[in-house]
Amino acid sequence: MVGMTASTGRRVLLAAPRGYCAGVDRAVIAVEKALEQYGAPIYVRHEIVHNKYVVQTLEKKGAIFVEQTAEVPEGAIVMFSAHGVAPVVHDEAAQGKLATIDATCPLVTKVHKEAVRFAQDDFDILLIGHEGHEEVIGTSGEAPDHITLVDGPEDVANVEVRDPSKVVWLSQTTLSVDETMETVDALKEKFPQLIAPPSDDICYATQNRQLAVKQMGADSDLVIVVGSRNSSNSKRLVEVAKLAGASEAYLVDFADEIDEAWLEGVTTVGVTSGASVPEVLVEQVLEFLSTRGFEDVEIVKAAEESITFSLPKELRRDLRAEAAALVAERTAEK
Ligand code: SF4
Repeated sequence: MVGMTASTGRRVLLAAPRGYCAGVDRAVIAVEKALEQYGAPIYVRHEIVHNKYVVQTLEKKGAIFVEQTAEVPEGAIVMFSAHGVAPVVHDEAAQGKLATIDATCPLVTKVHKEAVRFAQDDFDILLIGHEGHEEVIGTSGEAPDHITLVDGPEDVANVEVRDPSKVVWLSQTTLSVDETMETVDALKEKFPQLIAPPSDDICYATQNRQLAVKQMGADSDLVIVVGSRNSSNSKRLVEVAKLAGASEAYLVDFADEIDEAWLEGVTTVGVTSGASVPEVLVEQVLEFLSTRGFEDVEIVKAAEESITFSLPKELRRDLRAEAAALVAERTAEK
């Protein structure tokens, strides 16, 4: 049962698990290690993970974030973000004589491999995901002629396939589990022979964070999700909280974005954070709430997590020497 302080009755329900997943942890450590091993600058294509604080902290240490591979000078080291990239981006890096470190989350790589395999078997692949999201762009790039993006249940009416007996659905790793199943049901109605991915594409971290928010949503007057606006899994947590019964749910990057007016008449605040959010930002939110009478914190635990991933193997090599050799090769060719 949830405890209450005698004085104010105000309480916080703190979701567990929350914050960093294994893929984000690995990607952030990979940038730090690369800076340590090879020295600055290390170029990173796209935000390494979708979190403002993490990006700003790494920038201070010497990481340079770029949108396109073409922005990286010849002979430099570039890292690909946790969201993954299309094969064409690897080709661009090779043409630009860049040494690369691939920090794509292994669970995103798994979806890429599924896409390649089903494309080889000439399936039409219906990729459920959000248009324009980096992960979706990367996965689609593995088999552009076989993949059709399906952006939610309302998109199903527009979907056409070549052969309805050879259709599979795959998904972005950070979607709402429930909304994805709605899309799948609508697709199945249209294509009864639709087959499912060999294993869950929505990753364990996304699922667990949504589960915890579902458990606390109904008991919360307000849910605060710490996360950036371009973080898919964080935005889904806001939606899931509202669907679970929270009267209000908001996304904030930092504690100082919390509007005092949100707390008016509120007794229970649910707090969680997206998979790309360091715990220090949650601590600042708890501190903010504590100074406003929300001192009693109860953990709402939905799952145990023990997954970790080993660092990208490229970090074991001398990439500065490799990049210099690539440039020397080009100079000799001229
Ligand atoms: S949210 Fe899931 S897929 Fe994305 S980086 Fe984390 S573990 Fe990997």
